[in-house]
Amino acid sequence: KKNMRKKIVAGNWKMNMNLQDGIALAKELNETLTNEKPNCGVIICTPFIHLASIAQFLNQDVIGLGAENCADKEKGAYTGEVSAEMVKSTGAQYVILGHSERRGYYAETPEILKEKVLLALKNGLKVIFCIGESLEEREAGKQNEVVKAELEGSVFNLTEEEFKNIIIAYEPIWAIGTGKTATADQAEEIHAYIRSIIAEKYGQAVADDTTILYGGSCKASNAPELFAKPDIDGGLIGGASLKAADFMGIINAWK
Ligand code: PGA
Repeated sequence: KKNMRKKIVAGNWKMNMNLQDGIALAKELNETLTNEKPNCGVIICTPFIHLASIAQFLNQDVIGLGAENCADKEKGAYTGEVSAEMVKSTGAQYVILGHSERRGYYAETPEILKEKVLLALKNGLKVIFCIGESLEEREAGKQNEVVKAELEGSVFNLTEEEFKNIIIAYEPIWAIGTGKTATADQAEEIHAYIRSIIAEKYGQAVADDTTILYGGSCKASNAPELFAKPDIDGGLIGGASLKAADFMGIINAWK
């Protein structure tokens, strides 16, 4: 394949799936992927409530497990929050941070996200860090500026060693859950730009090793074209990660 860096298809269940339905989906994926080894890394990111149960049976050699958020505080009197250390203690290895829904609906600022990233890394979690512009910003031609500021605000403070635990997910907000995908060329253009600014910051070798996922209405029908691009290393999948057949269709785009 085009280069040696790790290819990943990650599911982001969001606020879907009760405990029973989530366990059933994870079991189905576990069985399928244990039998037919995927050609890419696979991760499922679930609500907090699923993590401990799913970690009990998940074959983490073929499917990684992650949370969709963690607290920006270490521990203590923060009612309703779940810390990075708690996430890690379930057996999960990953956490999504900086998703546009968290930035938008829950007012997560670059400073808050910077704290979350540091706590996640401190507790041994790998971070899927999401960036991406709104429709307005894209129409004003500001997409490069926006993703650069998001990286500078929350992850470009990391050391090179720390940064190696970051997976980037480029998710144009106008493509999330809308059925509108960025064209493969549009996505490639900004993925290449993201890689170039990582290279400026950490050097070409680190940039070449950084996995950059595309997210936003990615599905089995458009995944092959997106994944064929040199700087697109897989996908972060919302809606199409909620049924095993749909999710497998995207994973199989790497075959
Ligand atoms: P979508 O969501 O695949 O449903 O567009 C992607 C995401 O928000 O991670």
